[in-house]
Amino acid sequence: MTESRTSTGRTDAREPDGGASDDAGRLQQSVIEQPAVSLERIGVRHGRGKNATDALVDFSLRVVRGETVALLGPSGSGKSTALKVLAGFVRPTSGRVRLSGRDITDLPPAKRGIGVVVQSYALFPHMRVRDNVAYGLKARRMRKADTAARVSEALSMVSMAAYADRLPRELSGGQQQRVAIARALAIRPDVLLLDEPLAALDAQLRQSMVTELQGLRDALPDTTMLYVTHDQSEALALADRVVVMREGRLVDVDTAQALWTRPPSRFTASFLGGANLVPVTVGRVSGRIALVSAGERMLTVVAPEPAGRWTPGASALVCIRPHDVAVRDVGVTGTMRAVVRSVVWRGSVTRLSLAIDGLPDQLIEADVPGRSDHAIGTVVGAHVPEHAGVLVDPAGEAP
Ligand code: ADP
Ligand code: MG
Repeated sequence: MTESRTSTGRTDAREPDGGASDDAGRLQQSVIEQPAVSLERIGVRHGRGKNATDALVDFSLRVVRGETVALLGPSGSGKSTALKVLAGFVRPTSGRVRLSGRDITDLPPAKRGIGVVVQSYALFPHMRVRDNVAYGLKARRMRKADTAARVSEALSMVSMAAYADRLPRELSGGQQQRVAIARALAIRPDVLLLDEPLAALDAQLRQSMVTELQGLRDALPDTTMLYVTHDQSEALALADRVVVMREGRLVDVDTAQALWTRPPSRFTASFLGGANLVPVTVGRVSGRIALVSAGERMLTVVAPEPAGRWTPGASALVCIRPHDVAVRDVGVTGTMRAVVRSVVWRGSVTRLSLAIDGLPDQLIEADVPGRSDHAIGTVVGAHVPEHAGVLVDPAGEAP
């Protein structure tokens, strides 16, 4: 699948498709800047014959200068392979790689000028921080004074200037990862690739590093970043656009907000966060609003564009986020009678599983704020606000 599957139109506006034949389209195409990064129909196959694994299948992506794109997907979905193809560590079996329009498919990694940060820090253990950061500059034969200035600059960007004389083993995991980021920044790359840079850190540190990475992204507005993660909250926090991947293929790509509020596929709806996916039959559709039936219930939901995609009588799914389901007393106007089947306190919210009368045989998850004291078996009133649900194409498997 290619990038045409967007719902905001933002990608399309930046990337007129080759089929645009009118003059306006051609004019627009000629004035648009070449994408900073472009992966064109990349295939990566490991091994041969029966034992072959397709790590990437027909994978296309264009990223404009200064944009931050997150590659999000489960383990083994091809995220790291996509970055390695860009960095030059993996030669694609098919397809082309371009930087600002230039074909670099056959260029060795060191000549690409791309900064790379990986999960495992990969610092040289016997070298002090400053020498680790200077490594890429020495390889480029930069003069000593310039190198020192660059190293200080890069260390300052990650708040590590005070640690220049330490050895990696004298640093915490978070500090080591900052040094690894400084090392990647020292060459002033146009493109920075980060492959699960926070995965080795504990939860609390990850949170503060996300904030720091946001600061770094904002401090480097012209640097194009690709950020690999399997953590949807990191992707939502950092990325202008999110690419959802599965089994080597691009499933969906769009802004984080669009993918969250109007997930184009069942997989993306579930992978991007908790999702109740309720099977429904589409009823009357008017504009962006549809009336649907789920069991004996009727719901008014959002029908994402394009118009005409949802036909009356067709089967679809409605995605309802758990935090949109409110829990009131039974009998309150506008609520549906429901039985509490499980209660899990998660700190800031409690997740209740509800069996709602008249809905198909499926539990609906509701996140209520704080610690809920509902007991299992309690009868409550569940409220799903109008337009809280959004129609999702039922095609494709669930995660
Ligand atoms: P992710 O980063 O999303 O976890 P990867 O890109 O590392 O996924 O891997 C995608 C698929 O390719 C996986 O099935 C993985 O086992 C396979 N793969 C990756 N590298 C190799 C390799 N060198 N040899 C064989 N298979 C590989
Ligand atoms: Mg990986």
